[in-house]
Amino acid sequence: MLGLMQSQPMLISSLIEFAARHHSDAEIVSRRVEGDIHRYTYREAAQRARQVANALDALALGFGDRVATLAWNGYRHFELYYGVSGSGRVLHTINPRLHPDQIAWIANHAEDQVLCFDLSFLPLVQAVHARCSTVKHYIALCAADKLPADSGIPNLRSYESWIGSQSGDYDWPSFDENTASSMCYTSGTTGNPKAALYSHRSSTLHAYAAALPDVMALSARDAILPVVPMFHVNAWGIPYSAALTGAKLVFPGPALDGKSVYELIEAEQVTYAAGVPTVWQMLLTHMKPQGLQFSSLRRTVIGGSACPPAMIQAFNDDYGVEVLHAWGMTEMSPLGTLCTLKNKHDSLSADEKMKIRLKQGRAIYGIDMKIVDSAGKSLPWDGKTYGDLLVKGPWVIRDYYKGDGDPLQGGWFPTGDVATIDADGYMQITDRSKDVIKSGGEWISSIDIENIAVAHPCVLMAACIGMAHPKWDERPVIAVVKKPGMEVTREQLLAFYEGKTAKWQIPDDVVFVDVIPLGATGKMLKTRLREMLKDYQLPA
Ligand code: AMP
Repeated sequence: MLGLMQSQPMLISSLIEFAARHHSDAEIVSRRVEGDIHRYTYREAAQRARQVANALDALALGFGDRVATLAWNGYRHFELYYGVSGSGRVLHTINPRLHPDQIAWIANHAEDQVLCFDLSFLPLVQAVHARCSTVKHYIALCAADKLPADSGIPNLRSYESWIGSQSGDYDWPSFDENTASSMCYTSGTTGNPKAALYSHRSSTLHAYAAALPDVMALSARDAILPVVPMFHVNAWGIPYSAALTGAKLVFPGPALDGKSVYELIEAEQVTYAAGVPTVWQMLLTHMKPQGLQFSSLRRTVIGGSACPPAMIQAFNDDYGVEVLHAWGMTEMSPLGTLCTLKNKHDSLSADEKMKIRLKQGRAIYGIDMKIVDSAGKSLPWDGKTYGDLLVKGPWVIRDYYKGDGDPLQGGWFPTGDVATIDADGYMQITDRSKDVIKSGGEWISSIDIENIAVAHPCVLMAACIGMAHPKWDERPVIAVVKKPGMEVTREQLLAFYEGKTAKWQIPDDVVFVDVIPLGATGKMLKTRLREMLKDYQLPA
């Protein structure tokens, strides 16, 4: 017997219409690429999102066609989130920090039809457009008078003139909630990037879950600053959960330095912020010497890589800000766990509480997780035994877009992380099974870096590992075995990387070694290499 409740598809358009109706005067404030501050309300955002939908119809874009963005966190990007997905097209957020070759590859793989970009990325678009064979329309996210002349980019127009002539009325279509809404490529350790393809249902459920009290506890009383980029995993879903709750949204644009972020938090009375540890490191480094304090900030979600204990302590003890440690990944929309304490922890000492706060946290309802051994057998939740972390749930991928095989293991997604889970369900990442290097919240594939080194005529073998760095969390260092009788210097090898990979992915240093330890199957043993280099110090 079926229940007799209305079956209404969960669609992203309903989030912005809800916000426009019930929180019509709640603000969305953006620091623009132009440098000034823009402010308007959910009501105006919804109207312009409808104009975007009409403008896409006018281009005769088909249902499910991909519209790409290369953009910072800002109101125009927010309008595209809703106008593109709400009208049944798929928003493809591209990470502008990727190498131009990867961006061109991704745009072709996704078969993007339209590319919308902030003017800061004009040189990037000029470099790649000739290789983006499916893109028919280029939209610069600016007013008509800011449109660059003679850019060399075909069919380029300004966003404001593109949507300006369109009506703010639009009947959002109704369709299957499992329809694709947005996509995000993750840079894998091997081969080409892979795309997670989110659906209206998965994104809406994730937005509900993120807003729960023991998750992000987002409310209409909050002013939230997502420093985490809208070009990576939908800024942890904040553009959706903010609309769902009516929270004020504050977008930082391209200004992510400590001074700019601090001034925006104070000026807009931000109560809540979200970002990777590197961003908060820059903020604290700016504040400490000047003795600055927050007048409104109460909570911050930190994730993307492990949050150092000193950071949790500094936020809590020096600034009265609660840190919520979160874990997730592109393939999980991204939230999987978040660390909040239970009543029974109230009586614990500060040190004991800190031990729990450092963990990545408890599973959010919807996410099921387990740790397994190499044979796939479930391991105990004792906080000590570690194993491969597997997850499943309605906002976890079941396949990659144009994937080349089933990524699941018996219905579970293998995260590639190694973790413990304690009796209360608190998960802690102990290691990554893949050797990707995280620099400033972004991935660097060690294999890509090694492949360039071994392309040098004097290099026999190369292994890239991440070394702890006070600002960027980790920086890559390449260990190299020279070919017998050949000579190459550190400087020559680093110069060899120029133009072959993005500048920030070039290793900080080269360490020449006699051998790189190999495991039983001929694979490089990076754990042993790390032991070999335990006394190594990054150049200042
Ligand atoms: P991405 O898909 O780029 O979001 O990266 C996901 C990966 O980042 C995870 O599989 C983890 O290895 C790592 N990660 C994310 N959050 C955390 C965290 N709080 N602590 C440690 N590692 C994390």
